[in-house]
Amino acid sequence: MTGQYLSRQKLAEALADEQCLWSAAGEQVEVCEMIAGLSEPRSPLSPKGWLYPSLQSVGQYGDGFTSPPAEAPAPRAIIGLRACELAALKYLDKMLLEGQFQEPVYRSRRKSAVLVSTDCAAAAPTCFCTSVGGLPLADDGYDVNLSPVEGGFVVDVASDRGRAWLAAAGLECIPASADQLAQRDRIRRAVTEAVESQNRSTGLEVAQGQSLVLPDDGDPAWQRYAADCVECGACTNICPTCYCFYLYDQALGPGLFERVRTWDSCILGTYHRMAGTTSNMKPTPRPRLRSRLANRVLHKFTYAPQQCGLLGCVGCGRCIEACLGAIDLRQVVGELQP
Ligand code: SF4
Ligand code: SF4
Repeated sequence: MTGQYLSRQKLAEALADEQCLWSAAGEQVEVCEMIAGLSEPRSPLSPKGWLYPSLQSVGQYGDGFTSPPAEAPAPRAIIGLRACELAALKYLDKMLLEGQFQEPVYRSRRKSAVLVSTDCAAAAPTCFCTSVGGLPLADDGYDVNLSPVEGGFVVDVASDRGRAWLAAAGLECIPASADQLAQRDRIRRAVTEAVESQNRSTGLEVAQGQSLVLPDDGDPAWQRYAADCVECGACTNICPTCYCFYLYDQALGPGLFERVRTWDSCILGTYHRMAGTTSNMKPTPRPRLRSRLANRVLHKFTYAPQQCGLLGCVGCGRCIEACLGAIDLRQVVGELQP
């Protein structure tokens, strides 16, 4: 079903009684707040925090005890996903679902979620999806896409799950008029041009799946950027594609233990330390901050395309927004490209 129209008021009325309404960041929000957010730039947080929580018990064990399998979450719609977030989910799916092992919490939440995306009606100053082979509008990976136009949305439904969600929520659409479709296309062109224009001077231009040639992680050229890094880890925590984790065990009581997964960060000096000697941990293989920063960028722009055919960066710009050292990833890559 393509080219339907749904008014803002109908969306607000239909969702008013929903018990489980999630914004792009996976937080429960008021309906009016969620609907207003659909006309704003992408949210500061991505849905990674809900699909792949930062702190998660993965099981308990002990004397004669093993924890029962986790219950599958109730189906929920994540409303307001942007094209960059759908691209990030494609990447996370590859990393967390398509290898030898699947991440169980991500798998169950991912499979339970109805993905309701929105074209970007405005861009944040740090957005650069068009520099990494993307666009500020969804072209696949969604169940339902809402394109904001005057008074409502042009609706595209891409899956049976999306159709079922619309029906269950009582969201009846009517055929969009030629004017509404033309307005959708005008907004799409204008936002695409705005993102292209704000990034023209960065020098970053890479096609989806292209592996960039950048200095290796031992090259002193990275020091120019690492000098401003305070090792806070915000860039990896906020990134919708970063998935590194750390496992530890803790005692819950006599003979009862819990294994916990937390997000880890390749930028931290503690990353990759391993138990291995009786007296100490094996140190990180990258003791220099500049080589850890280089590794983070190389992983996204050089290694990931070689390993899985996808860039590890979707151009959301969140790491630029969050960086305490004011390091601009666009500038780093643009300047270091030969
Ligand atoms: S590296 Fe930065 S711009 Fe790229 S996807 Fe991660 S947070 Fe977004
Ligand atoms: S957000 Fe900036 S300062 Fe913090 S670790 Fe990342 S690059 Fe360094």
